[in-house]
Amino acid sequence: MGLVGALAVVCFICWQRAEGEGEEVFITDLGKKYHREDCVHLQDSRVAILRNQAEAEGYEACGVCQP
Ligand SMILES: [Zn+2]
Repeated sequence: MGLVGALAVVCFICWQRAEGEGEEVFITDLGKKYHREDCVHLQDSRVAILRNQAEAEGYEACGVCQP
């Protein structure tokens, strides 16, 4: 039962990523752009956020890391 539940969660995550809406990106405390995890602009701070949520809050894609 527990294993089946875990697999269901994994599949739901896979589905979200395939849809392109549940993808995790990162924002900073001061910036108005969102970034990929390895972007140089994330050295000072990084806050995980979903891409669609970031866009809904007015953040734009970083031109350097092109998330
Ligand atoms: Zn970036």
